[in-house]
Amino acid sequence: AGTLYVVATPIGNLDDIGARALKVLREVALIAAEDTRHSLRLLQHFGIETPLAACHEHNERDEGGRFLARLQAGDDVALISDAGTPLISDPGFHLVRRARAAGIRVVPVPGPCALVAALSAAGLPSDRFIFEGFLPAKAVGRRARLELVREEPRTLIFYEAPHRILDCLEDMEAVFGGDRQVLLARELTKTFETLKGAPLAELRAWVAADSNQQRGECVLLVAGWQAPEGEAAVSAEALRVLDLLLAELP
Ligand code: SAM
Repeated sequence: AGTLYVVATPIGNLDDIGARALKVLREVALIAAEDTRHSLRLLQHFGIETPLAACHEHNERDEGGRFLARLQAGDDVALISDAGTPLISDPGFHLVRRARAAGIRVVPVPGPCALVAALSAAGLPSDRFIFEGFLPAKAVGRRARLELVREEPRTLIFYEAPHRILDCLEDMEAVFGGDRQVLLARELTKTFETLKGAPLAELRAWVAADSNQQRGECVLLVAGWQAPEGEAAVSAEALRVLDLLLAELP
């Protein structure tokens, strides 16, 4: 059987493509791409003529079988997404899972990933972090999700769409408080790359005052929760259990 390569591609700056990624994309029989027109431009830039086939979130489950058949017939296939690492807020999970279940070798070809790039330059604790991906688009759902991680001690990482960045920062301020440290990493590796760290209230005001900061692609990193000094560090879970127990008291 062939090998399924999961290949990371640039998140903006084409010079970030890896030498091994280029070699694999050149040598495989087929490239499964999230958006074939988008990826065609990338391949043309590097003079790669490997055939492309669509593998996006709407057809991944149904069409996955086609790629599996090619792999089982002995062809090597590369999986790429529009930008960065496949499966990271991008399609590919179902194909990778099915391939592994079918005993096909799955090989990662690592490279750019917006969350790792942002974290590596943020100056926030990076020994432990959690990636929350995209928050719900509507305020009610977004606040509910933020509430769940309000007392999370690890650095929090979110992807957000530019037209929702301000609403998102407002909700974060309401849930985490205006003093919590946050960093906006925008347009990473591109011409207008901006990394701006500040307390939430300050960053929210800064983004509100400059519509340029509400454009482009962005990652938000929020410092983990720290128990206020002097206060006993009782975990949110302990408090929740205490509430449940208190409710049972006569
Ligand atoms: N698979 C990608 C990765 O490895 O990072 C992520 C794909 S996800 C559909 C797109 C989101 O990633 C954007 O909305 C943004 O939050 C983040 N992102 C991608 N490229 C970025 C960049 N150059 N600068 C900042 N954020 C970026």
